[in-house]
Amino acid sequence: MTNSRVSALIGGISPSATLAVDAKAKALRAAGESVVGFGAGEPDFPTPEAIVEAAAEATRDPRWHRYSPVAGHPDLKEAIAQKTARDSSYEVEASQVLVTNGGKQAVYQTLLALLDPGDEAIIPAPYWTTYPEPVRLAGATPVYLATDETSGFRVTIEQLEAARTERTKLLVFVSPSNPTGAVYPRDQIEAIGRWALEHDIWVVTDEIYEHLVYGDAEFHSMPVVVPELADRCVVLNGVAKTYAMTGWRVGWMIGPADVIKAATNLQSHSTSNVCNVAQRAALAAVSGDLEAVAGMRDVFDRRRVTIHRMLNEIPGVTCLEPEGAFYAFPSFAGLLGRPLAGHVPATSLELADLVLEHAKVAFVPGEAFGAPGYGRFSFALADDDMEEGIARIARLVAAG
Ligand code: PMP
Repeated sequence: MTNSRVSALIGGISPSATLAVDAKAKALRAAGESVVGFGAGEPDFPTPEAIVEAAAEATRDPRWHRYSPVAGHPDLKEAIAQKTARDSSYEVEASQVLVTNGGKQAVYQTLLALLDPGDEAIIPAPYWTTYPEPVRLAGATPVYLATDETSGFRVTIEQLEAARTERTKLLVFVSPSNPTGAVYPRDQIEAIGRWALEHDIWVVTDEIYEHLVYGDAEFHSMPVVVPELADRCVVLNGVAKTYAMTGWRVGWMIGPADVIKAATNLQSHSTSNVCNVAQRAALAAVSGDLEAVAGMRDVFDRRRVTIHRMLNEIPGVTCLEPEGAFYAFPSFAGLLGRPLAGHVPATSLELADLVLEHAKVAFVPGEAFGAPGYGRFSFALADDDMEEGIARIARLVAAG
């Protein structure tokens, strides 16, 4: 008998589809093709100057050349606690904050710290691709609840109740949502929070897009709307989207003391402290004002209106208006099973490949988010590129 080279546990992890699409687009571009990439969820702005300056200063200070506390610099944790009270009215102690390598590590550690083998984690779909994998690594089972345009891609209490079993440990909740751009109104957040409270179900709530809401949509933090839930709630957040800092890798989780302690122990054996220079940059970000994000939000809002209109103008494409984050999530149902560029795409996965090959436009097929038939378009790219990209798809569709 031969041993397999890669363990069954890790061999079963699929690569991040969003990063894969982005890599494909970048590779084509490096090969000289003019590709428009709607794949990566990252702001196209540089990090604000004051934040970069704080990092530059930190590089020269020998204090930051050494290991530091695993859970984060005490002043950064304090600033995150204050920022959380300022931005969402959630009052927490600095000791409830664990600083992580991006929001992704916060997702990973939270799910591993909460789930046991056999547990079930409810994940409304379409879901961000990263949520299911740590659930499976913990030996737990992701339970997906499909949502579509009819509910504005929002899960209902009836769906949650129908999915609940005695093994249900937690619900993953994200508003504003990646990939749909949906934002839950306050009353629905309250109803979901009360449902979780009533049934002793934890809520892991991802607030990374808190500042990116448009029109009448408003952000609300679940443990503020339902304060009694705080002892069974972990809030995830980070600097990536708010301050155009995706590459700096600073995120955090906020939760009850026992969960934070467990996750800190896990982090102490994996990555230890987050890079000190990045932490100094994050300190400048969260303790500064929100002027830069307000400016970026206005630009995203303009692009949102344009991409929503342009997508709906393509025959066979329908797109709900995104209310938050920076993603449009159109349905391609009307294009599937019909000729396109000499083929007949049966799935959004095939469609995405055809569009990349023939229109040189990269988007992430809905399959990556548990929502076949759809596609995710990040509108965090330059206006001209965005308009050119959608126009290329329109031309491809018109040519049949
Ligand atoms: N949560 C959501 C919903 C996201 O979309 C992202 C980034 N795509 C993250 C968390 C993590 O962001 P990061 O690891 O870059 O901080």
